[in-house]
Amino acid sequence: MNPITIPDQMVSSVFAGSGRVAFVTKDVPKPGPGQLLILTKANALCGSDKGFYLNGSGERTPGHEIAGIVADAGPDTKAKPGTHGVVFLMDFCGSCRSCKLGYTNQCFNKRADMGFSHDGGYGEYVLINENIFFAIDADLSFSDATLLLDIMGTGGHSIRRALLARPDIESVLIAGAGPIGLGILGMVKIMLGQDIPVYVTDMNEYRLALAAQLGGIPVHAGTEDLAARLAADGLTDGVDAAFDSSGQTAARQACVQRLGKRGVLVCVGHGGDVSLRVSEELIGPERTVLGSEYFTYRELEANAEYLRQHREYLSQIITHRFPASQLQEASDLFFGGQCGKVVVER
Ligand SMILES: [Zn+2]
Ligand SMILES: [Zn+2]
Repeated sequence: MNPITIPDQMVSSVFAGSGRVAFVTKDVPKPGPGQLLILTKANALCGSDKGFYLNGSGERTPGHEIAGIVADAGPDTKAKPGTHGVVFLMDFCGSCRSCKLGYTNQCFNKRADMGFSHDGGYGEYVLINENIFFAIDADLSFSDATLLLDIMGTGGHSIRRALLARPDIESVLIAGAGPIGLGILGMVKIMLGQDIPVYVTDMNEYRLALAAQLGGIPVHAGTEDLAARLAADGLTDGVDAAFDSSGQTAARQACVQRLGKRGVLVCVGHGGDVSLRVSEELIGPERTVLGSEYFTYRELEANAEYLRQHREYLSQIITHRFPASQLQEASDLFFGGQCGKVVVER
């Protein structure tokens, strides 16, 4: 028997432009073959929603860091109503060349980006294809479960990308202490070891303090000299791996300048450019420059195990929780930047 009574209509949220949230009524969708209807219990706010926040989302209900409960399951599905889980952003085909090899974030026939091309987690219910549902432990809180998505998922993937080029990473620099930068920091500590020094640059004092709380070494990009700081710690040759989560050209160039021999730069933050003097900055020191986009579905399993082991540590990244009815307050705080990750719950 279905434990959840599903109404015909639901409260949903859209961004109306100029930073305003509007609550609208929508029909609750019915799951077809292979589909699940998810009751949204938590949705984490994300910097990638800033365009919607500023310019409006039209009819679209945003929200793509979703944790919830299977409320109803269509024909040809396996998950039972009542199952807890999270939703992978990208609806991948499962049969193209990328998907067959597990690169589900590089699907050639992507069907959806939930919360962008299709309605997402700021509605009471969200309709998904079952392949992007990932079941979680029933005793994990929904807010903590959202950590599996952009925080651990995107963070962990960027580290796995770096390890392809540089398996012996012993020092790390992260440009940008926003949620993605903090996620990379947390996952470096978990995946590569607590003793690895992780320098985190930003201008935002709140976020630098949060980076320090998570075991990072904060460096104020406006007032501190990064090169001098690294040299004082014996890293005169630079760091082994740098991650740019800022999306800012200047911050990314600072990463290039602080990379050591065989160093790897992973670009995670969208926007801006990177330029290299090829002989001196790339060929000579045999460096690698990589892009890293979201993560692959199969990484969820390993990350879920990390979350079981390090839940208390990682949940420090979530600094604020609001009821779903306060999406306006949550958004104003989040896009104001005086916070870590912000989650709305219902
Ligand atoms: Zn996101
Ligand atoms: Zn595919």
